[in-house]
This record gives sequence, structure tokens and C-alpha cells, in this order.
Amino acid sequence: MNCTICKTGSFDDGHTTVTLERANTIVIVRDVPARLCDNCGEYYLAEPVAQRVYTQADEAAARHVQVEILQYVA
Ligand SMILES: [Zn+2]
Repeated sequence: MNCTICKTGSFDDGHTTVTLERANTIVIVRDVPARLCDNCGEYYLAEPVAQRVYTQADEAAARHVQVEILQYVA
């Protein structure tokens, strides 16, 4: 499948760093398995992976830290 952003790249399996913002919390999740565009770096997360990342972000936001850097946990 071609990249929806740059239209020319194609996706390969890899890992990326996802940054999310909640109310007062910035959450950075590292080593998230994703499909990565080999041209522009756009990434696509499988639905269960995205859900897991959002859950980790919500948990960090619930701790009211300003910045949390996490390792992706499957
Ligand atoms: Zn692209």
C-alpha cells in the first residue's frame, strides 16, 4: 500500500516513537511497532497497538506528570 501522505512511499514494518498530549501531560512512547513510510516517515499503527498506546497515555495522564517517557509494552 502506498503512503497516504506523500503518495510515493511504501510502508515497511518497523518501530517508531509516538507522542501524545493529554490535558496537562505529554506522553512519549518509544519502540512502538508500526508500519513506517520509507519516504516521509509517516507511520500507521495497527488498531490493538494504538489502543495500547492510548491506554498507556491515559495511565500517565492519571498520574498528573507533565512529561512521561514510556517503553511500549504489548
Ligand atoms: Zn510517505
